[in-house]
Amino acid sequence: MTRIHVTYTGGTIGMVESAAGLVPGADLSGWLYRLLEDESDLRPGDVTLTELDPLIDSSNATPESWQAIIDDLWSHHHSADAFVVLHGTDTMAFTAAALSYALTDFGKPVILTGSQHPLGNIVSDATANVTGAINAALSGKARGVTLFFGHHLFVGNRVTKRSSWAFEGFEAPSTGPVAQSGTPWHWAHIDMGGRGWDTPRPYGRHDVPVITFVPGVRAQRLVCMVDPRPEAVVLRTYGVGNIPSDEPGMSSLIADLTDCGIPVVVTSQCPQAEVMVGRYGAGAAMDRKGVCGSDDMTFEATYTKLMFLLSQGLETPDVCRWMTSSIAGELTEGGR
Ligand code: ASP
Repeated sequence: MTRIHVTYTGGTIGMVESAAGLVPGADLSGWLYRLLEDESDLRPGDVTLTELDPLIDSSNATPESWQAIIDDLWSHHHSADAFVVLHGTDTMAFTAAALSYALTDFGKPVILTGSQHPLGNIVSDATANVTGAINAALSGKARGVTLFFGHHLFVGNRVTKRSSWAFEGFEAPSTGPVAQSGTPWHWAHIDMGGRGWDTPRPYGRHDVPVITFVPGVRAQRLVCMVDPRPEAVVLRTYGVGNIPSDEPGMSSLIADLTDCGIPVVVTSQCPQAEVMVGRYGAGAAMDRKGVCGSDDMTFEATYTKLMFLLSQGLETPDVCRWMTSSIAGELTEGGR
């Protein structure tokens, strides 16, 4: 029998109404054990549960929260065969990507899930998502870090939250799902690959502003965003990596950052993208040393990867080299 460890971090799934809106407070462990008793062959002893303290709305998640989950998973590594993480949906895609980089040597499946509605509500998606995640854990087919939501299993570092209300709340714009639940489940072949990372250092916070370009933004506004000097910068550019290059001061802003040795990572505002820095004249200012594109990574995978690499203490050339190499299948190396 497969033994499952559940790490409960918070999120809508275990929330109750309060005067201040939805907050953690439901009897999640009671609900979960009843569900498993009624709906599966698992016996109480086959499932262990950690409730992280404090339970949080995932909007409050930080790199330290990712590390707390990683630490809990490792501390139960020997006593379980598969792992389920119950998490709020708002930043679940960030956490899934963050876990994927830090757990390349974990060797056992980790499946994240949550719900759009609290458990116990007749219209809730909690039961479907948790039983789906448990089924994925029991399947023997899930690998690495994945996320189950709305009848689909996704590679954890390829996923993004697409809807604040739909039960199909997540999508993987570049790869599609790994599996669709049903009778039977349908599995696709997605090569998660990646070079892995031996004994990663723990996640810490790093100062990385994210700059989103919008029509009419002035360079001076962006200059203020990088003062004082951050550790790295993420640019959310248009299309394959274009910025308003005619705007005075915009190109020199990029040059100033790279001249100071600050890594600049170019992402796209398109959910489904393949960044090609310098493909257009409007992106030429970024075709320089110290700037790297995010290829077909999601924004969540890109940002958390930077946090991971900075937590490893890497210098700019190594940060740029790893940003364009796959650690845990988060990007398609060599293009699509
Ligand atoms: N704000 C909640 C959270 O991310 C939303 C959810 O779980 O659906 O914790």
